[in-house]
Amino acid sequence: MVVDKMNHDIGQRIAQGLARIGIAQRQQAWAAGSERNLTPTQAQMLSQLASAGPLRLKELAAQLAITPATASDSVRVLVEKKLVSKKAAATDRRAVELGLTAAGRREAKRVAQWPDFLVQAIDVLSMEDRAAFLRGLVKMIATLQERGEIPVTRMCSSCKFFRPHVYRDVNQPHHCDFVDAPFGDGGLQTDCPDHDAAPEARRRELLQVFVNGQPATS
Ligand code: SF4
Repeated sequence: MVVDKMNHDIGQRIAQGLARIGIAQRQQAWAAGSERNLTPTQAQMLSQLASAGPLRLKELAAQLAITPATASDSVRVLVEKKLVSKKAAATDRRAVELGLTAAGRREAKRVAQWPDFLVQAIDVLSMEDRAAFLRGLVKMIATLQERGEIPVTRMCSSCKFFRPHVYRDVNQPHHCDFVDAPFGDGGLQTDCPDHDAAPEARRRELLQVFVNGQPATS
């Protein structure tokens, strides 16, 4: 009975643990941002433009799960600071795309170093624990993405090249068609430059196979 209760509560304790990490990360982001006069949202924008840019305002807002109005305010400040520039989109000269200036690229590199305090904490985990942790995180993020609660990002679970659980080898059960190679949970990507989004129906199927280790039944 006691064991049942402990198992029942484990989800709640994981949620509490993640919330504590989230609080620590926000505190760290505010502290680091205030040194450079950036809000966490402005810092995230630089980071997102560095990894996925150039982007239109609506795309940037959607990727950060903020409203276009909030995005517009932050972009205005970043343009004033000469960290972000606006230019005509390559595919449609009437549309405007946001990109990083040289100073913005330097700042984005510094911003990327903020999670270092988390990386140091993760370093105490064994390789096995890290792979299991990453697998769990990717499953959680992918599930939230499929429910529309957070934006879809460039993770294996939504990539057309991902083939989860195609091998019996527990160390390398997945395959990436892009590099045509097997890989394990420790190799799951959360922001892959080679990511190519799978169609929605295929994404749902990939998630089902990845989470359950078997194809969807319906
Ligand atoms: S291309 Fe990148 S995101 Fe896609 S399956 Fe391969 S490693 Fe994962």
